[in-house]
Formats: sequence, structure tokens, C-alpha cells
Amino acid sequence: MDSKKLKEEARKAGAHLVGVASVDRFKEAPKGHKPTDFLSNAESIVVVGLGIPLSIVKTIPSSYYEEMYHQLNSELRSIIYRVSSHLEGEGFDAFPVNPDEPDYLREVKVLEMKPEPKVKMIASFSHRHAAVIAGLGEFTPASYVVVPRFGPRVRFASIITSAPLKPDPPLKNEFTWGLICKPDKCGFACIKACPAKALPGDGSIDQFKCRSYRGPKTYTLKYFKEIEKLQVKGVPPHIIRLILPANYRLPVAQVCGICLKACPIGIEI
Ligand code: SF4
Ligand code: SF4
Repeated sequence: MDSKKLKEEARKAGAHLVGVASVDRFKEAPKGHKPTDFLSNAESIVVVGLGIPLSIVKTIPSSYYEEMYHQLNSELRSIIYRVSSHLEGEGFDAFPVNPDEPDYLREVKVLEMKPEPKVKMIASFSHRHAAVIAGLGEFTPASYVVVPRFGPRVRFASIITSAPLKPDPPLKNEFTWGLICKPDKCGFACIKACPAKALPGDGSIDQFKCRSYRGPKTYTLKYFKEIEKLQVKGVPPHIIRLILPANYRLPVAQVCGICLKACPIGIEI
């Protein structure tokens, strides 16, 4: 299949950004989170992105942004469905991976309780890594990915396929910042803006601090421990979903976005 034509299909379906990564570049992904864990004959990963309208970003924190966040996820689901259908119509296998997922589908680990709780959450598939490998953007000290056109104000989703597509070159080989994201110029604006102090500035995010800020009543230590306990017991996700209390089943209880708004890449807000 022609990579160029497939990208046209993705753009016709509404994608602002499209990149292709080869499955070989995911060797370092943790077990259970590799493209071949979804599709055993995977050859390529098509990553699509949608930018968040700046007029909405300017309102952050707001319900407009929260609604737009869910709207973009829904648009992305539609795009990856259409691209997958197109690939299947051409005789290839295609696995669309949703842009977001509820926490019971992620690998949840409570790493420590004192002096403060530390929680690790691994998404079933990292769209951010896929976007960087597909040459769309670069990691930042704030853990998110920036792209030249939208900065960090972009949502990604992926299609894992058996089609041997020509991959796009990554912007660079390391998973670091410095090319698009220049912290010395902005003074680590994203890190400073976080009201929860959830961004240490090393490329990671303190999930517990970020989540507690976004949904203090939902994202309690009990919430994370409950999911971890069920996962350790080997309870499958679709059963965990039934066992968890209703307010634990939401994909995201509350979005924030203050760190995204602070970044000057793409445009000064
Ligand atoms: S989403 Fe909000 S709380 Fe979470 S890291 Fe960004 S600014 Fe901090
Ligand atoms: S605010 Fe600065 S450090 Fe943060 S992502 Fe944007 S450019 Fe990089």
C-alpha cells in the first residue's frame, strides 16, 4: 500500500496530522504494550492528530475545554475507524487504538505511600511515543508531546496495521527535547503553570498529584489501590469495569489543561 495515499485518506477523514512509524521502532515498549500485542502481524503504525482550537484553549480552565477534549476524542475515534476500514478494504489487518481509555484498561501501580503517594499508570498503547517515532513531534519536560503547528494542544490516536507502509523519519533519534521545545527560552512555562506541582520537569508526570487536582473526590489512593488489587488478581478489564463503583468507571473525571495553555509553541496565547 502506498503510504502517501493512505495519508490522503486520513486527511480526507479529517486528520490534521498524519505520520507513519515502523513496528521495528517499538522494540523497547514494555511487554503487553507493543503494537504486536494488539496485532500479531503488525508492520506499521499510522498516527493521526487533531489540534485543539486556540479560542477554546484561551478559556482554560473551562467546561468549553472539557467538552472539546471529549469531542476531539470522539472525532479521532471516527477517523481511526475510517482509516482502519480503508485498510481492511485493501486486504490488510487494522487495529484502531482509541485516543483515551478508562483507568481499568491501564496498568496501575501504587509505587509508594510515604512521604506522599506515587502512582504509575501505563496506557495500553502510547500514542505519544508513536507520534514521536512517526516524526510528528517531540517529547518535552512536561511529559506531553509538542508538534510545530499546535504545540502540545493536540490529541493523537493510532491505527496498528499489517500494511508495510513507508515510515516517516523521526525528528531525531532520542526521546528528549531541544528541537521544538526549548525550555531555556520559555523558562519552563508549562512546569511553572501547573497548580498541582505535578510536573517535576524531567519528562515525567506525577500522576497522583495531577489526578488529585483534577478530581479530588474520585482519584483517591483508594481508587488506584482498588484497580491495582483487581489487576494483580488477574481480573480481566471488562470484569473490573463491572466491579468498580460507578464513579470509578469514567474515562477522565475532569480535565485541566493549564500546562498546555502555558506553552508558547504554535502561537503565543
Ligand atoms: S493537567 Fe493540570 S494538574 Fe495535570 S499536569 Fe497539567 S497543569 Fe498540572
Ligand atoms: S512550555 Fe516550554 S518547556 Fe514546556 S513544552 Fe512548551 S516550550 Fe517546552
